[in-house]
Amino acid sequence: MATQGVLGAATLKEFEDGLHGELIRPGDGAYDEARSIWNGAHDARPTVIARCADAADVRHAIGFARSEGLDVAVRGGSHSIPGFSTCDEGIVIDLSPMKGIKVDVSARTATAEGGVIWEEFDAATQEHGLATTGGLVSTTGVAGFTLGGGIGWLKRKHGLACDNLRSAEVVTADGQILTASRAENPDLLWGLRGGGGNFGVVTSFELDLHPVGPTVAAGPVFYPGDRAKEVMRFYREFVKTVPDELTTFANLLTAPPAPFLPEEWHGKKLVAVAGCYSGDPEDGMKAFQPIRDLGDPVADLVGPMPYVQMQSLFDALWPKGTNAYMKAGYFRELDDHAIETIARFHQNATSPSSEIHIHHFGGAIARVDEDETACGERQAPFVLNTIAATHEPTGLETHIDWAQRFYAEIEPSLTGGAYINFLSSEGEDRVKAAYGTEKFARLRALKDRYDPTNLFHLNQNIPPS
Ligand SMILES: Cc1cc2nc3c(=O)[nH]c(=O)nc-3n(C[C@H](O)[C@H](O)[C@H](O)COP(=O)(O)OP(=O)(O)OC[C@H]3O[C@@H](n4cnc5c(N)ncnc54)[C@H](O)[C@@H]3O)c2cc1C
Repeated sequence: MATQGVLGAATLKEFEDGLHGELIRPGDGAYDEARSIWNGAHDARPTVIARCADAADVRHAIGFARSEGLDVAVRGGSHSIPGFSTCDEGIVIDLSPMKGIKVDVSARTATAEGGVIWEEFDAATQEHGLATTGGLVSTTGVAGFTLGGGIGWLKRKHGLACDNLRSAEVVTADGQILTASRAENPDLLWGLRGGGGNFGVVTSFELDLHPVGPTVAAGPVFYPGDRAKEVMRFYREFVKTVPDELTTFANLLTAPPAPFLPEEWHGKKLVAVAGCYSGDPEDGMKAFQPIRDLGDPVADLVGPMPYVQMQSLFDALWPKGTNAYMKAGYFRELDDHAIETIARFHQNATSPSSEIHIHHFGGAIARVDEDETACGERQAPFVLNTIAATHEPTGLETHIDWAQRFYAEIEPSLTGGAYINFLSSEGEDRVKAAYGTEKFARLRALKDRYDPTNLFHLNQNIPPS
């Protein structure tokens, strides 16, 4: 790996002169902010950060990385939990300045550049009463989120984000700028729909839009944590009856000191069911009713609200700099063993910021053929995500240990697969398990074609053969 010293001032100057965007290196005033990513657990020091202005910059940066033998990290919204969007030494190809969004109202599509985050995307599309499946936290990047699948509030009605990916502009490892669509390079489009950042740097995403809101029935209902088993048993039956419009997840958490929760509950265990109904708000309120009828909630925040408000409701709980780790899987079924294990580990969580999420799947996700996209296990009833997190500077290891012990105990209720966007840095076998043997082989063939030297390896990596 090259370092700045080895690169030399003249080499860097030449690279910088060819860049329309900004080059940031150690010693620059902007370096510390520019090198930081969402997950505070990763404190890497890249040799250079190329803040790209356009696809030509991305091509220029890729050429530079190849000629200098630099490690390459690619950054959209910087929310990679395993920290793949930064590196020690090497180059960060940072697309965050690329903020262009074009909404085509009549075609019901939006084209977003690689640095757009969901907050920006939703603001642009909701002006027209349109939306596509975006992240549950609005600061997440469209790029990494869509390439890894994309679980959000509209998923049961409109599919995963990657199901809505109509076309993409991609800069490949050899510097070509390609379109991936059903008409051009359809194999590449298939790989981008869930295959992560393995095949090139995506400079723009064309996504399908759907009429949503602007007002939706949405929100969470919180119950005391000691009712977790009762709420989870209710939840597994309730979801069997819900229409596709209603997307929900169950969240086992410790009450944050948030103004929407009664003060006497701050710091205590809670179990929440949160959802969003992407249809008529009145119908939505009816669909939510059984969740609210469980009785004696700690707080019931379900009501009509702007879709963009629901999209950002949890933002404040997940600020940049949080130290975090995820351990995730797909449920085979939410059986009694799983519910008992969830309730027990909820109670003994080592950090008040750690949470257990159970995302209901089905609906539009399950109607897409398994082999239509690279993404995961579409027939799974639920996705499990265990988030070990702390806002303290130390202690993450203890919380990771909690998450791993929980996973080990709940494993018999899981399929053995994993959802790419919630995967930590867990090695090739876990990536293989995430895709399954057939898809992994197909992805590997694609990797051989588009990135045979594995230039893009800081990701859930599919190594070339
Ligand atoms: C607070 C928080 C909330 C989250 N909520 C959800 C959620 O609701 N649903 C869900 O599905 N996931 C969620 N995630 C996981 C998230 O989807 C992934 O971490 C995703 O990779 C983030 O994308 P990004 O662009 O922000 O991240 P980045 O860190 O910028 O990118 C992550 C990886 O994606 C690849 N990549 C990024 N941009 C490009 C590009 N332009 N071209 C090629 N490859 C690229 C690279 O391999 C990169 O390392 C959440 C994560 C966090 C931290």
